[in-house]
Amino acid sequence: MFLGILNENADDRVALTPEGASKIHNLGVTVLIEKDAGNGAFFQDSAYADHAVIKSREEVLRQSDVLVSIHPPVLSELKTLRVKTLIISQFAPFADHAIQATLDSLKLRALSLDMIPRTTLAQSMDVLSSMAGLSGYQAVLVAAQYLPRFFPMMITAAGSIKPAKVLVLGAGVAGLQAIATARRLGAVVEAFDTRSAAKEEVKSLGARFVEVEGAIDDKGAGGYAVEQSEEFLKRQKEEVQKRAMSADVIITTAQVRGRKAPVLVPAATVEAMKPGSVIVDLAASTGGNCELTQGSQIIKHNGITIIGDSNLAAKMPQDASTLYSNNLVNFLKLLIQEGELILDWSNQIIRESFITEPPSQ
Ligand code: NAD
Repeated sequence: MFLGILNENADDRVALTPEGASKIHNLGVTVLIEKDAGNGAFFQDSAYADHAVIKSREEVLRQSDVLVSIHPPVLSELKTLRVKTLIISQFAPFADHAIQATLDSLKLRALSLDMIPRTTLAQSMDVLSSMAGLSGYQAVLVAAQYLPRFFPMMITAAGSIKPAKVLVLGAGVAGLQAIATARRLGAVVEAFDTRSAAKEEVKSLGARFVEVEGAIDDKGAGGYAVEQSEEFLKRQKEEVQKRAMSADVIITTAQVRGRKAPVLVPAATVEAMKPGSVIVDLAASTGGNCELTQGSQIIKHNGITIIGDSNLAAKMPQDASTLYSNNLVNFLKLLIQEGELILDWSNQIIRESFITEPPSQ
């Protein structure tokens, strides 16, 4: 069996590191890798050479039985794949509603890593969590870079500086890592989330949990938040506005799977903030938590810097690739036995992440 690794082109990460490739090779698989695919993450072709064969992109696309990537190949490339090629990537079918029909019409098979269930067993394969952790960390570093003030309290001969105040909206994987990073840098941190479970986690990191009454907290939603009522969102906006006026940095991470991100920071709140303050909006790709966010752009509004970036994990391509690769290896071990691909339909992780026609049909 041939497993191919593609170059991500506009992204410096790579789906499998040399160590990951060697583990897959040890499962009895011939690994093909597109030339220079690991360069952006500082994994040279020579580091892969003992366990993989370096090929051109066309050869990897044409010869692979299984293709792995971070971003799915574009349609023109999908059309060149052999029937029944299995693609393992992040297709986001909860946002791209046409993708399944497209893949089915081309008779391709696909496992979408962003559909892996949020169960204890699947934790070691959860690429969304791995990348969210990196994004939360990066969000704080980017904010610190743009903030014209210190994060920690400073007592110097020239005078004292108060610590920065950071408000984190959405305390999931990214938000908790942002809280931990901002605390390590010495900031005073407040955070809010609609899931009640987040309260204890926020407090355990030394941050203050902002209470807003009346959140809908659906524990049956598989670890994901659910959409909130208009009335709750109005109350939340009022509370955010109060906190925002004294915050130096706001980091927003609030997402509702398959839906537009809730607007938690309206334009009026931005206008009430202190000049020089910074907003980092990690929900930018699903519309943004800040009304003024522009996807993949850094803008200034009334002296406030607003950074819209949902792909901050890619700014740390080496560690991001290592974690993605570890997740992918753990997932591939479920699928490959003695060099053969076995799609065990009784396995919940395989069943739920398989987004094309089931194998029996
Ligand atoms: P996410 O990226 O979908 O959302 C980020 C955060 O925004 C979530 O905590 C969500 O509750 C919050 N949010 C949504 N709407 C909001 C609103 N109106 N106001 C404020 N906050 C809002 O979520 P995520 O970070 O990927 O995961 C959320 C949680 O799922 C984790 O903290 C964890 O408890 C759980 N989880 C479990 C597993 C597992 O068991 N394998 C894996 C990953 C995550």
